[in-house]
Amino acid sequence: MYKNGDMCPICGSGALTKKSIEETFDYKGKSITIKDYLIFECPVCEESIVEQETLKNTEPILIDFRRKVDNLLTPNKIKEIRLLFGYTQENFAELLGGGKKAFARYENGAIAQSRAMDNQLKMLRNNPSNILVLRVNSSGYTEYIHRVSTPYEKTEYVENTTTENFLEGLLEGTVGSIKQLSGSCLCETTA
Ligand SMILES: [Zn+2]
Repeated sequence: MYKNGDMCPICGSGALTKKSIEETFDYKGKSITIKDYLIFECPVCEESIVEQETLKNTEPILIDFRRKVDNLLTPNKIKEIRLLFGYTQENFAELLGGGKKAFARYENGAIAQSRAMDNQLKMLRNNPSNILVLRVNSSGYTEYIHRVSTPYEKTEYVENTTTENFLEGLLEGTVGSIKQLSGSCLCETTA
């Protein structure tokens, strides 16, 4: 919260001058340049202080930049995957791990998901039936694990089933192959 002419808080003798610069940030060998990066410079000690507003505005840009470098899912893709299964943000976090607010933060871009979470989401997207493993895991119905781990014994095709109906049906043994869910795969055609 400085303004032009304020006393430098570092040396205590210079008068701060507001400047617009181009600042470059590096991450894993890639770089991004932010234009109009506002700082206050001290002509005496030559220190510079970044404007609060600039820091606040730059943070989401840097998170997005690092997410791209790391090849992590975008906030929209994460939301799309969650909605595929019809979960609320909190329930999805409960199933996949992570704090109650984790998905709210991933989806609004406030933080980037871990590599482990990203892998888990991609596996769910590419093969939605994997949700069964997680559901079984979290519900403690260990007797179903064998059924889930040998999904191809039944081949009866059930048309127009929702994911939820299918999951219930599979657990009850009234519907067939997990393969049919693979058919609704949301795999991206481009990386
Ligand atoms: Zn100074």
